[in-house]
Amino acid sequence: MPVSVYPWHAEQWRDILARRNSLPHALLFSGREGIGKIDFVRKVAQSLACETPAADGAACGACQSCRWFATGSHPDYRELRPEALRMADTDGGDEIVVQEASASKRKPSQDIRIEDVRALQDFIFLTSHQRGGKTIVLYPAEAMNVHAANALLKNLEEPPAGTRFMLVSHRPSELPATIHSRCQKVVLPTPQAGIAERWLREQGMAEPALSLAQTGNAPLLALTMNEDDYWSQRKDLLNGLAAHEPEMLALAEKLRDIPPARLLGWLQRWTYDLLRIRSGGAVRYNPDYQKALTQIAAKLRSIEIARYHRALLQQQRTVSHPLNPRLHVEQMLLTYAAVLRGERLNSLAAS
Ligand SMILES: [Zn+2]
Repeated sequence: MPVSVYPWHAEQWRDILARRNSLPHALLFSGREGIGKIDFVRKVAQSLACETPAADGAACGACQSCRWFATGSHPDYRELRPEALRMADTDGGDEIVVQEASASKRKPSQDIRIEDVRALQDFIFLTSHQRGGKTIVLYPAEAMNVHAANALLKNLEEPPAGTRFMLVSHRPSELPATIHSRCQKVVLPTPQAGIAERWLREQGMAEPALSLAQTGNAPLLALTMNEDDYWSQRKDLLNGLAAHEPEMLALAEKLRDIPPARLLGWLQRWTYDLLRIRSGGAVRYNPDYQKALTQIAAKLRSIEIARYHRALLQQQRTVSHPLNPRLHVEQMLLTYAAVLRGERLNSLAAS
């Protein structure tokens, strides 16, 4: 069966397949995180390499080239990812990367580095195995540091024959203008709520509307919320935050197994909603707690809740490796309780 894409990208899919014989050597795909950009790009690459594409140009899903794509082993296809994300993709099972990083006792890089781009040169100058030419995907392209971007630029300026570059970016504004000017742009849209909700329900998602609210309509990000105890943990926390006289130490004890980063995300969305209500707006992330949020917001001083929210945002950078996760969580919750009691947060512990 020919491959297809998510329903909200059908139009872009038809358009790009129609141009499959005249695509430029560099394309930049952009759109918000969690809407399926990389899946789209992989299917484009697969279709361009397919030996017997369908009438509309979509990959057949059955030929040798398509079978290689299915197992992630196509000899003419490469993906460049930051080392840290490569490890996350395979849940730490990418042994070569793990060995590389641990042998030198350094943290896996968050960047696409110049050595990653240079390592492509051999691949670029080898003859391609198949007729479709070679495809190199950089994802997310904004992870390129300035040296990597300059090295890539050389390839974009003098495109090697038979090689196509596909950059995929959540935040294209972070890419240098020099890169932008050498790529043709393809914007992949965020789906409308109804379409995304229907799709999530088809995937067996328990809380499609709520998870879309939590992610700003990013269905693939929403899908990750179907894992483990996400919804019951969220309920434990938000019930605690909504309580009349919250018992924060008991709550922290109850939530002790939740990763602090996840907890921080929920707290940030909760305080964001409080701020929205204070400024006359509608609840954005937690529509199921609208009543409690409205009651709490009425009692709070905007300035204090804004300060607390800002302090939570500042913790974003340190939360994935706190010195003492337990203490970190307790502090976030105790500070929230202090805000509720109307205490002023002059010396807010953002540490
Ligand atoms: Zn095929």
